Amino acid sequence: MDSALEFDQEYTYLPAENTDHYLGQLVEVPFGRGNSMRRAIISGEDDQSEFKQIKRIAKVLIQQPIYLPDQIELAKEMKRRYFCTIGQALKTISPPTVFGVGKRNVRACCLADRELSEDMLSEDLLTSLQQQRVVEMLLRVETAFVQEVTQACQVTPSVLKTLEKKGLIKFFTQKADRELEQPEIWPEPEVEHLNQDQENAVQGILELTDGEQTQQNSKKSNLKEALLFGVTGSGKTEVYLRLAEKTLEHDKTVIILVPEIALTPLMISRFSRKFENKIAILHSRLTVTQRFEQWQRILRQDKKIVVGARSAIFAPLNNIGLIIIDEEQESSYRSESTPRYNSHEIARIRAIHHNALLLLGSATPSVETYYRSQIGKSVRFELPDRAKPAALPKIHLCQMKNELARPDFDGVFSRKLINNLRTTFADNGQAMLFLNRRGLTSTLQCKICGFVIKCDNCEVAMTRHLNQYHRQRDRLICHYCGKIMPVVTTCPLCGSEHMESSGLGTQRVEQAFTELFPDKRALRMDFDTTIGTDAHQRILSEFGRQEADCLIGTQMIAKGHDFPNVRTVGILAVDSMLNTGNFKSEERAFQLITQAAGRSGRSNIQGDVFIQGYDLNNYVIQSAAEQDYTNFYNKEMEFRMRANFAPFGNIGFALFQGLNESNVKSEAEIMYQYLQNIIQTNSQFFGNTMVYTAAPAPIPRLRRKYRYRLIVKSDKIIKIAQLFSLESRRKTVKGVNRSLDINPEHML
Ligand code: ADP
Ligand code: ZN
Ligand code: ZN
Repeated sequence: MDSALEFDQEYTYLPAENTDHYLGQLVEVPFGRGNSMRRAIISGEDDQSEFKQIKRIAKVLIQQPIYLPDQIELAKEMKRRYFCTIGQALKTISPPTVFGVGKRNVRACCLADRELSEDMLSEDLLTSLQQQRVVEMLLRVETAFVQEVTQACQVTPSVLKTLEKKGLIKFFTQKADRELEQPEIWPEPEVEHLNQDQENAVQGILELTDGEQTQQNSKKSNLKEALLFGVTGSGKTEVYLRLAEKTLEHDKTVIILVPEIALTPLMISRFSRKFENKIAILHSRLTVTQRFEQWQRILRQDKKIVVGARSAIFAPLNNIGLIIIDEEQESSYRSESTPRYNSHEIARIRAIHHNALLLLGSATPSVETYYRSQIGKSVRFELPDRAKPAALPKIHLCQMKNELARPDFDGVFSRKLINNLRTTFADNGQAMLFLNRRGLTSTLQCKICGFVIKCDNCEVAMTRHLNQYHRQRDRLICHYCGKIMPVVTTCPLCGSEHMESSGLGTQRVEQAFTELFPDKRALRMDFDTTIGTDAHQRILSEFGRQEADCLIGTQMIAKGHDFPNVRTVGILAVDSMLNTGNFKSEERAFQLITQAAGRSGRSNIQGDVFIQGYDLNNYVIQSAAEQDYTNFYNKEMEFRMRANFAPFGNIGFALFQGLNESNVKSEAEIMYQYLQNIIQTNSQFFGNTMVYTAAPAPIPRLRRKYRYRLIVKSDKIIKIAQLFSLESRRKTVKGVNRSLDINPEHML
């Protein structure tokens, strides 16, 4: 199973001499004509093989299995659902296998350019299997010590040197003896009594678990799923803690998924305080060795609770009783690389294998999740009120059309918001301004002929940015490929000198803020200001210590953080989040507005939220302003039903990319013909399934590559999975990259 790309089969071997074997064990076997040694995983027992000459397993590499039986089943299931190989699935399930590196400063490496590496890999441009393995590993773990890479990939250091020469990886020095970081425990009073809603949720959820257990030995167990729908601050975490406690009392284990460990310090602190050394926290900052060691501890069942982001769903716990997915609507639960799994689906498969309860928690559930609770696939529990007395914020809509006539209008702030900021600052309160776009302005366009400056590499408009090194010299940056160029003052098409910037970005908001409030300090948090490793944390704690009056930022500031002194929240250019050509953009906008609004009024002083935009009658904005999830849900479902989007229908999305346009186009067309033929010859199975002709993608060129897309719609996911699985085995011409996804987050 050397490289995930080549391995997709089970082979039969005799046991090694005088050795006990277990399912999931890592062994070494002679393979192929030359009998070269390969690593393999024991995936099953076969006592009646018909083969005459069966080779013998050479040796056991690690005595204790590195996969549990249910994980091997899971890998097989993933192959079916995500059209990947078993090797890819197994690699996704567990961290790379390493046996520890010595202490002291050691050489480490990382990818020099992630996208380039992904391209090289998927277009088969890496010349050796060894190189492929290294790039695959670094795509998963970001950085690793050289020794970890050579061990896990079974390559010599010279392979890494070659990759460095090709510009694919970089070396640096890092301290190896980093101890496991202890999670920070925040001083907080313990919650002594649950309130009635929390109590009802805990009791109800426990009954779901108990009820089913009595009839366990009837046929195959059904999925037990619950939704905890509770507004921000309603005390969902407390419900999770009680349920986890009960689960441990029954000698069962718990997995808790959070969108990102670094963004959920309070939750980690509460769990660590309660469960101390029973808990394993899978940080993204763990070294490869630390991660593998944590994994081994979980495998040995030393740990009973695992907390982590997306991939923690694969944790090798036995006897799982409870799986919690907090903030279940977050897009980070979907993997963006092959296999493009979704933590919810994996959680459902594992919950069935273990007869565990799956609990999804959210203040703004995804419509698919809420729908499941409407049609009885899950049971919904609600926490409609905040747990601690806190005045709910007052929401104001600001129609920006009415501001245009104001002589002092700066293009950013409405009168109402300015007045409120003044009062807040006079009272020593803080403010947050949220905007979904970084940079200064979004487009640069000729006022005479309408020409828009686009990136040479991509068919997208370039964004104007302030230049932090030369105050006066703005530049244009492509948000897709990173290309930078000077601002254009003369129209390249008609030669006019009337180039005009429009659309708001975070830098422009910061400028306008400083002009209005010269003696107030603003912090900006967006992609451009958070490049260093700890930049996020630094900005947030500065703001938390009240060293700044205003925090301006993109969606990064909308989530999670609790700043009791924030009185004013501004949500600017709200329209830019809508109608983006992505079927989930309305849902994402609703979630973001709700989250951003939830940042204010975290104490007993009433907060104010200002939503600024032009299209304020939109149902997303209306229902967000009224904090009416049900209204949003009903409208959104009408739209999804009409358009046949999830949960009513499913979309398969195939994307072909490459430098040679005609190759890209013809691959997409070949796929179209291929799928058409399959559907026609198996029309019974593929009822209600449509393939649409190949066409240029909404972004027709990106990073110099042409892009064609092909869409399949069907009533059943499994039908699309079947088609894609066949397609994925079709060889494409070199230099064309194909990616296949079902119900994707983006279709651009
Ligand atoms: P959520 O996860 O739903 O956003 P939290 O679990 O963070 O909410 O709870 C919000 C706050 O309310 C926390 O400070 C928590 O300690 C407090 N809290 C939760 N439950 C109770 C309760 N029953 N009584 C008093 N305070 C509570
Ligand atoms: Zn022009
Ligand atoms: Zn570009």
